[in-house]
Amino acid sequence: MSATDDQQRPESGADASAKGWRKYFNAPKEAAPVVQALPPPKQLAKLAQIFESSKRGWFWATDAELRLTYVSDHIAKRLGREPSEMLGTSIKDLFNDELAEGSAGNRTTGLLLNTRSKFSNMEVRADYDGPEIWWSVSGQPDLSKEGEFLGYWGSGIDVTTDRQSRDESSRLTHSDTLTGLASRHKISQRLDKALQAYKIAKRSCALLMIDLDRFKQINDTLGHQAGDELLKQASQRLTRVAKDGWDVGRLGGDEFQVIIPDMDDRGEVADAAKKIIAMISQPYTIDGTRCVIGASVGVAIAPYDGITSEELTRSADLALYAAKNDGRGRYRFYSTDLHADAEDLRQIEDELRDALERGEMWLAYQPVVSASTNEISGFEALMRWEHPERGAISPGIFIPIAEEANLIVPLGEWALRKACEDAASWPGSARVAVNVSPIQFEHSALPQLVTSALANSGLAPDRLELEITESVFLGEGSDIDQTFGALKKLGVRLALDDFGTGYSSLSYLKSAPFDKIKIDQSFVRDAAMPGNRNAAIITAIVSLAEALGMETTAEGIETLDTLELITKLRVSHIQGYVYSRPLHYEDIMETLSEGNLVIKPTGPEMNRSDRKTLYRKVGVIHEDHRYEVTMRNVSMTGALIEGLNDVPKGTQFVIDFGEGQLAVATVRRSMNDKQGLQFEVPLISDGSDGLCTRSRVSPYVLAAAGMPLAALPSGHYPLVMNEETAQQNGKGFSLPSFTQSEAGGTVLRVA
Ligand code: C2E
Ligand code: MG
Ligand code: MG
Repeated sequence: MSATDDQQRPESGADASAKGWRKYFNAPKEAAPVVQALPPPKQLAKLAQIFESSKRGWFWATDAELRLTYVSDHIAKRLGREPSEMLGTSIKDLFNDELAEGSAGNRTTGLLLNTRSKFSNMEVRADYDGPEIWWSVSGQPDLSKEGEFLGYWGSGIDVTTDRQSRDESSRLTHSDTLTGLASRHKISQRLDKALQAYKIAKRSCALLMIDLDRFKQINDTLGHQAGDELLKQASQRLTRVAKDGWDVGRLGGDEFQVIIPDMDDRGEVADAAKKIIAMISQPYTIDGTRCVIGASVGVAIAPYDGITSEELTRSADLALYAAKNDGRGRYRFYSTDLHADAEDLRQIEDELRDALERGEMWLAYQPVVSASTNEISGFEALMRWEHPERGAISPGIFIPIAEEANLIVPLGEWALRKACEDAASWPGSARVAVNVSPIQFEHSALPQLVTSALANSGLAPDRLELEITESVFLGEGSDIDQTFGALKKLGVRLALDDFGTGYSSLSYLKSAPFDKIKIDQSFVRDAAMPGNRNAAIITAIVSLAEALGMETTAEGIETLDTLELITKLRVSHIQGYVYSRPLHYEDIMETLSEGNLVIKPTGPEMNRSDRKTLYRKVGVIHEDHRYEVTMRNVSMTGALIEGLNDVPKGTQFVIDFGEGQLAVATVRRSMNDKQGLQFEVPLISDGSDGLCTRSRVSPYVLAAAGMPLAALPSGHYPLVMNEETAQQNGKGFSLPSFTQSEAGGTVLRVA
């Protein structure tokens, strides 16, 4: 049929005929008035023909065995077949068994047709090799007078476009349009469902909350389109890391979520988190520009850290918040103290707003010493906050808060002006180095501020050194070069701070006019470890810096052996406790006035091992008693405890670190009230600077012992009772095997 034919035929007529046919097929046989209202058979056949040739719908009929006895020509052709070859084949083969909505409910087409009853508007997909076709199909059984099934009469209309647009809009609500990952709505639904099911099946599930570090900076410098592209690429990397069965979703902005079913080994979760961070932190190319972002990950595991999805999400959120505050680029496990920490940080932020006005900020100065002469060449100004109640708060804590809360600009301005004033008053020409946050650096007014600070203080520009971290390059915005240019023009010196902690691209060194590279303390310290390659890398950095006419400072040298190694690597300057801690203005004035700028390094001979000196109370469970002891040292493989007298070597304990963390340990050394323990399963890093156990006591196990099913409480293993409850329970109280010394605490009986 031609287009003209189509146009000649009134639309309403076609619709009416389609409806008419359907009504005919669907109408019950005994519906006499309808039958009577039908046109005579000849006209009816004509109408059917018109309708068929309009290709708006089609007809079909079968015999009692459901073999096709009729099918409209155009449908056969659309499926790439001849009508004659279709006749005799089963109608069931025409439909793919993906039954959709309709009167049919959830049954397959095959089952439905087997019932030989009437059906209407059943949405089915054509089963053939070609682009998808969806039909809405209706059928009416053809019954003999005796009620015998003779076959079906049926019709169908093409609903492909409808179906596709419905699918698309459902995809849009279920998946994130930009990245194609599950949307916030979808992923939270999945988490809900999974947790409900897992609670019954006593399964575990890890939730990773991921936030991109420095994404905002890139979005702001390179524009939203670049930001979108970055999000897409980051999502693809997340999908690549994800194993079968993991669910990855985007919550919006630069926040993502990963659900890992049946995962409660914190060692494995930590590996997954590390992998995610490493993948996201690889450089990206966006419109030919290279940029680098990072990721922070908060981890919560059900049922340990939350039973319901709200609870688990809140826990993962808190862990993420802590990971970001720990300095980003890290993962962090949820622990119950994070609630208090988060509250604390909020309060610190509030108090930081008024700290400058209240005169609580001051600058400490740490000498930077020439490696060859031990002579002070300058001082780094380090901001200090003396809080009236909390005491000294570390810049490691308050600087990130200030950056987040937009307080770094006024604080940084104050530090710069104050450092210039102080340095101008020093006898001699020692330099002053001031840290500049990337946020200040992006502030277009930085060169003006520096000009003003220099003019007001009268300090010579070459006595001021600005310390900048490499994160200022991450956006690679054009303003950065301009700012560098403007600062160089003023005659101030520029130092690249914390080299070795971030992406540490040597290409920054070639493109930016630095006078100095400061090699970060973590990098320097690792260099002293046997078998570590950092020493070789430092040698390369030093030669490159020399070739480019830059100085090098090794930061954080605490011991004489590291100093010796670093000096051998020909680093030009040293800053570290081995020479001096950061000092008060008055103290350095005294040194400078005396005119003796040479400092003799002093300090411990060797770096201490990686044992963390921790003085905290932990529980020791032995037989059916729980003792409290002081833990002096803990490493991944063992710990030193104090508080139990005369414990024989080989004794097995269960150490209770709190929050369901139990570790089986064997006494390897024993002296009076001190024991050296070896853990059966090594502890793992908690992502922050602490250690934790791989697995914890499952709340399901506690529930089986009669406790309410809930996330793990803080404090010690809950299935422990004191004498009073033991007696109330009629269990009595047997004698403990060990006595406790001064360093110990109470003894409780294990339930
Ligand atoms: P940074 O700029 O890398 O400063 C060096 C840090 O290493 C200082 O920590 C210093 O006290 C510490 N340090 C130096 N020698 C040793 C050592 O031998 N052993 C150890 N363990 N540490 C050593 P501090 O003062 O806590 O400052 C931490 C960071 O806070 C600084 O790292 C800097 O990034 C930031 N910061 C400090 N003051 C300011 C400021 O005025 N503005 C900005 N934007 N950031 C600042
Ligand atoms: Mg610094
Ligand atoms: Mg540094």
